[in-house]
Parts: sequence; C-alpha cells; structure tokens
Amino acid sequence: MASCWLPVASVVIVGLAALFSGLLSRDRFDGCCPVLNWEQRHAFDSPVVLRPSSLAEVVAAVNMARLQRKRLTIVGSGHSYSSIAVPNPDVGGTADDMEMHNNGSVLVCMRCYSGLVRVDSDSHLVTVLAGTSLEQLISILDQHRLALDVMPTVFEPTIGGIVAAGSHGCGTKHSSVASLVREIELVTPDGEVVTASPEKNPDIFYGATVGLGSLGVLTKVTLQTGPAYNLAERSSVMHLTELAGNFEHIVTESEYVKILVEYHTGAVQIISSNRTHEQPRNSPTRLEADFWAYVIEAFQFSTMLYPAIIPATMRFLIHHLRVFSPSERVETWSKALSIQQYIPLHLESEFAVPLAQTPQAIEAVYKLVDEIGIGISVFNEVRCASGDKFWLSNGYGATPRCHVTLGLYGQDNRKAEYFGQVGQRLMALGAEPRPHWAKFYTLTERQLSTLYPKWGDFVALKRKLDPNAMFCNAYLQQVFSESKVCG
Ligand SMILES: Cc1cc2nc3c(=O)[nH]c(=O)nc-3n(C[C@H](O)[C@H](O)[C@H](O)COP(=O)(O)OP(=O)(O)OC[C@H]3O[C@@H](n4cnc5c(N)ncnc54)[C@H](O)[C@@H]3O)c2cc1C
Repeated sequence: MASCWLPVASVVIVGLAALFSGLLSRDRFDGCCPVLNWEQRHAFDSPVVLRPSSLAEVVAAVNMARLQRKRLTIVGSGHSYSSIAVPNPDVGGTADDMEMHNNGSVLVCMRCYSGLVRVDSDSHLVTVLAGTSLEQLISILDQHRLALDVMPTVFEPTIGGIVAAGSHGCGTKHSSVASLVREIELVTPDGEVVTASPEKNPDIFYGATVGLGSLGVLTKVTLQTGPAYNLAERSSVMHLTELAGNFEHIVTESEYVKILVEYHTGAVQIISSNRTHEQPRNSPTRLEADFWAYVIEAFQFSTMLYPAIIPATMRFLIHHLRVFSPSERVETWSKALSIQQYIPLHLESEFAVPLAQTPQAIEAVYKLVDEIGIGISVFNEVRCASGDKFWLSNGYGATPRCHVTLGLYGQDNRKAEYFGQVGQRLMALGAEPRPHWAKFYTLTERQLSTLYPKWGDFVALKRKLDPNAMFCNAYLQQVFSESKVCG
C-alpha cells in the first residue's frame, strides 16, 4: 500500500510547490489596465495606453486614434484566452506613417469607465457603464434585490467584454448574456455617440452588441434584470454512456444545468439548479472549495512533467479522491451560477453546436483524443442555452446550442493540433461548430461565414462604420482574412 502512495505523495508535493510559486505571480493589472490576459499568455503592450473615465474621454481617444491613423483596441479585464483584445505591436511606424499596420494600436482600457447609471425599479432595467465588472454589477444588483437570469462563471470580466465576445451561462431556459441587453451606447469609429436598441438603429444593436470590439466602443449597456432569487443545486454522477442516451432530458429538465466530463474515466457530473424559496445552506467554505482546486492543480502540474501518467492520475482523482460526488446545496443566484474557488490557469477552446447533435459531437471529440493520443487533465464542460438574435453570437438563431468547452493544462505544443482538429472534425460532422470568440480555434473566415447566417451583414456593417479598419488587431485580421475588412 505504501508503495502506491509514495509516487502520489511525491507528485502532490512537486505540484504544490509549483502551484504556490505560480500563485504568487498572478496579479496582472496595472490600475485600470490588464498587463497580461487571464491565462498570462498574451501581454497588452502598447505605446499609447488610454484609461478613459468619462464619455468625453472615450470620444477623445477614438478621435485621437483616427486623426493619428492608428488602430485602436479595446480591453476590458483581459479575461479572454484568445488574443481578441491584444493590441498590435509597434513595428516602427511614425506618426506620419499612412500605413495603419506599422504603428502600434492605441489601447483603450475600459475598467475605469465603470459604475451604475440608473435603475428603473418598475421595469427592472439597469444601465451601467460598460467597464463595470460583473462583480461590481452583482453588488449593485444586490443593493436593489435584483438579479441576472444569465451570467458567465467568473466575476472579473467587464460587462462590455462579456457581451462583446458573446459570453453565455448555462440553461436552455435562457440565452446568451447579450440577450439581456435592451440598449447600448456606442462610440463609433468616426467619434459619434450612437444609441441602439431593437427599435432604434437595430442593425447597430444586433451587430455591435456582440461586436468583438470591432465596431466601436460600448460605453453604456442597459440590461433586463429581475427579482433576486436563490437556487437549489443538486449534483449527481453518471457515466458518459448514460449521458448520451438522456442528454436532451438532462439539459432541459432544470433551469440551469452544467455538465462536467472526465475523459479518461468517462465520469460525468451533472450540476442542476432550480429556483427555490429556501435560504442558503451547505455552502462549502472558501477554504474547502480552494483546497480541492489546489489538489487537482497539483496533480495537473505533475502531469506536465510526466504526461504519460495523465490517465492514471485522472482515474485516481475520480475513483479514489471522488472529486465528482453527489451533493446538494442552496445558494444565492450569483454564487450558484459562478465558480467561487481558485481556478488553475489553463487554456480553453469552445464550440457551440446544436443541442440535438451534442452527444455525437462529444463522441467525435473523444474519438479524436484517442486518435491523436493526447492526455486530458482538465474536466470538459457542456452548457446549453437557447438562441439569440445577435449576428456574431455563437447562439444566433432559433436552435438551442450547447457550448462544449475543452481545456488543456500545459501541453502548449499540442494545443493547435488538438483544438484545431476538434474544430475541423466538428465541421466535417456537420455539427456547425461556432467557436467562442474569446477562446482558441483555427476556423477560417470561409468556414465561419457558413456558420453565421448574418456574417455578410456584419461585414457590410463593419465596412460602413469602420471603412479605415481602425478597430482591428491581428486577431480580427485573421477572423476577417477573406473579406479584408481589417486590411
Ligand atoms: C476563467 C474564465 C472563465 C470564463 N467563463 C466563461 C463563461 O462561463 N461563459 C462564457 O461565455 N465565457 C467565459 N469566459 C470568457 C469571458 O467571459 C470572455 O472572455 C469575456 O469577454 C471577458 O470579458 P473581459 O472584460 O475580460 O473582456 P476582454 O477579454 O478584455 O475583451 C474581450 C472582447 O471584448 C471587447 N471589449 C471589451 N470591452 C469592450 C467595450 N467596452 N466595447 C466594445 N468591445 C469591448 C474586446 O475588444 C474584445 O474583443 C471565461 C474566461 C475565463 C478566463
């Protein structure tokens, strides 16, 4: 027995040592600006960094960039895995250089442009400045006993970044976060301040809300909120084969459903929540929640040193440490819908596929994992949502879609092979894999344009609002490499 625990103990010790050194270097903000993205892969370096704290300063930033013929990139909290919010570097251009490519982008950091604008207590419409973080928004809503029906899992991102990248929550009774937006205020590339809603400037509303930061700066967002609520959450465990046969029932029977899958064992944890009048109970303490996250990361870190032990490690976590186990608790809405504990740094890719095709999509992904022989030490996630009307939202349309999230811890050298092939495999399956814009993918514009029925409308709007391709960076040049709306 001791001979079995010895390697495990050494693995944990190595992992914990590495983890604590990593934890110490996690502060990635310089005031209003992120210096690095969440996963610390991308740096937000720019010769000109602006931190507007008023509408006039946002307009001045846009006008300055236009007059100096510079590109402009907007960053919220830098909570994207992809380089979507990364400014172009300065490659030696001068102020007179007429080639926008050559002088680096102006970086506009929005986190200081934050706060409540108004709350309408009858309609529950809440207007905030776009740099307001989800954490600040929740605190505002708590003061008014209001809540969101949809939210992503972490508190740091700004509301502007969340909607611009098409973020979502979980649950087929709801849609994307953008679907809560009733009105936006946008500073367009020509420095105009435009208000848009389904009734007023609808093209701008449906184009620029999930606009990938490419159609202007969102400055104000009005959200539909509702009365605060508590959620009774129940976690159950099953095998992947059982999930496939009951998938539609499982993801539609509760208001919120999140599914975690461990690939090597086929273990599945279903976390379902419904509204309740009960008061919060059984909340894990922060220490308890963090403890398990640290233990899992210790194992993950160790597998970076010895990738061959990933399957055995994951079996140990599932079968011996029982990291997936049944439980019940009641939480306030914001606690239940978020991840409260420490999250180990990792890289993600995510594709939204039609609900009806999700079991086949998961099967195809796992077949690929077998074929390319990569070890997966991060739990994969599946969260479904109903459709919305935003042109570049990966939820666009009437069909409910499930967001299949794939993680990699370390193994940088294999990410392009794995995530890239997943996208292509799902394309070949006819599963219309719409990528999460803030995560890693390699689909081309030719492929993307077949997945988004309103792609052509978006491109036309981009040409109209931003004819000089000012709101463009290397990421957007890649996304629009065929239509050339970013040069
Ligand atoms: C640990 C973790 C958990 C996550 N969980 C979820 C989840 O549950 N669901 C989900 O869907 N996503 C999730 N994400 C992705 C995340 O929600 C998005 O990346 C979101 O865009 C981050 O917001 P941000 O403020 O950091 O935006 P940034 O990363 O700074 O920017 C993202 C995009 O928004 C644009 N942008 C930012 N502010 C503005 C503005 N004011 N006007 C116009 N454009 C703007 C940027 O130019 C860029 O195109 C997660 C990411 C991480 C790292």
